Amino acid sequence: MLKGKTALVTGSTSGIGLATARALAADGANIMLNGFGDKDAIEKERAGLEKEFGVKALYSPADMSKPNEIAEMVAATEKQFGSLDVLVNNAGIQFVANIEDFPVDKWDAIIAINLSSSFHSIRAAMPGMKKRKWGRIINIASAHGLVASAQKVAYVAAKHGIVGLTKVVAVEAANNGVTCNAICPGWVLTPLVQKQIDARAQASGQSTRKAEIALLSEKQPMHQFTKPENIGALAVFLSSDAAASITGSAYSIDGGWVAQ
Ligand code: NAD
Repeated sequence: MLKGKTALVTGSTSGIGLATARALAADGANIMLNGFGDKDAIEKERAGLEKEFGVKALYSPADMSKPNEIAEMVAATEKQFGSLDVLVNNAGIQFVANIEDFPVDKWDAIIAINLSSSFHSIRAAMPGMKKRKWGRIINIASAHGLVASAQKVAYVAAKHGIVGLTKVVAVEAANNGVTCNAICPGWVLTPLVQKQIDARAQASGQSTRKAEIALLSEKQPMHQFTKPENIGALAVFLSSDAAASITGSAYSIDGGWVAQ
């Protein structure tokens, strides 16, 4: 379906981003990987995508907290592949504390990486998408883009911001063949969430499994994690022709979290 198209997935060296890059490659898209991590491991993933799916894959080390590096990454994608057709804004970090204890530098970093980076990437990618009259922008938001949790002031503010940004971009690009949607996952077992489970287990003296169940059942009616591959499959669907008129939506994939 996406053969001949190019997808850039930010934060795709791990978790949801990596699974989404793999799902888009399996559908035929060339891939620009991005994110931090071990150089050899990233090269193995990049070469693996080419071998497994017969697509072309490149890697950009751009730091999503740096606007100029984001613009350069978008320009490099267009130059090296000829176009940027599917943009998945996924890179994200987390920090947990009450607002009065929340370090200012953590607030700034979360707003920069989880929110402003999407403004910068979309700003850079939109002219090419409009010119080619085809584009898919998918912002990985969160259940926290729709509802709050204590101790996550920066994350919740950034994710609510992403849902708003998604709607504006959708409205602006509505008649240019470009759609923009947000995906709002509940709990997905990735390194970002594993850290929260480990912190819980340590604080409460519980086993990791008990801490996992406690974390899930506090928020989700469904006591199981969403798989990263399930987010990838939704991104592939939103990139398909069947989804051509879906725009400005915030898709929950959250085990019933925000249904309550
Ligand atoms: P993860 O920690 O496994 O992956 C995060 C990715 O972002 C990594 O590739 C990392 O290198 C990259 N990254 C971090 N800072 C970066 C920077 N400054 N520049 C470039 N890349 C950077 O996390 P994940 O759970 O896969 O999260 C991915 C996205 O999904 C995030 O936006 C997160 O908020 C969102 N999300 C996750 C969950 C969950 O339960 N895991 C739920 C809802 C939403």
